[in-house]
Amino acid sequence: MATKLKVFQFPAREDNYAVILHDPENGTTISIDAPEHEPIADVLADKRYSLTHILTTHHHPDHVEANAVLKGEHDCTIIGPEAEADRIPGIDNAVKDGDAFEVGGHRVEVIATPGHTLGQIAYHFPDQKLLFAADALFALGCGRIFEGTPRQMHESLQRLAALPEDTKVYAGHEYTLSNAKFAVTIDPNNEELTARAREIEQLRDDGKPTLPTTIAKEKATNPFLRPHDPAIRANLGMESASDEEVFTEIRARKDRA
Ligand SMILES: [Zn+2]
Repeated sequence: MATKLKVFQFPAREDNYAVILHDPENGTTISIDAPEHEPIADVLADKRYSLTHILTTHHHPDHVEANAVLKGEHDCTIIGPEAEADRIPGIDNAVKDGDAFEVGGHRVEVIATPGHTLGQIAYHFPDQKLLFAADALFALGCGRIFEGTPRQMHESLQRLAALPEDTKVYAGHEYTLSNAKFAVTIDPNNEELTARAREIEQLRDDGKPTLPTTIAKEKATNPFLRPHDPAIRANLGMESASDEEVFTEIRARKDRA
């Protein structure tokens, strides 16, 4: 049984999250993306950790901005998506869908999640039951489709939804309150969603994070994972549409919201 990784999640930039993983036995310290140098450097200094790895999910500046500086300070190894390798500063190892590798003895599986960008990947730590979904799957939402198609995003999300239900899901942004307000317009009679929306409001009022979430919670309440749901379909007047069509409509409504 592998050592349990310590997980530190903290805000960066406007609404990003930075996440640092630390193995207390062998010192392995991983930053999931590198949105901003200062908050990450502060946590590393405070904990007296030396960064050994950065796992980059996609090329957007709010996910890679601190790669170069952190690499200069810690000589860490940067792993990132092969399809965007030329846009990932400091990348050492390029990985793609289906790859599995070890970081400090911890197994990491790569899942391609195109849609938000074409090359975005998620990192799954199966033994730790952790998923880092970046800007593919958010709590009660999904990423904007900048480079891919709705079909790609739908398929990406369905692949993540197939992971074990007790997997903890970390995402790139704290967008949950606005996602919740939108979600209840799509799935108004979902009691679990209504209760969760209230909980989220309370958490944000208290200045607390709404992440991580879990695969189980998202499957039960995130409309972007539920295009098959009869109540959602009835609400949208799309009873006989395909899942992909329903997903596309939900995403289009969110873009206009
Ligand atoms: Zn992004």
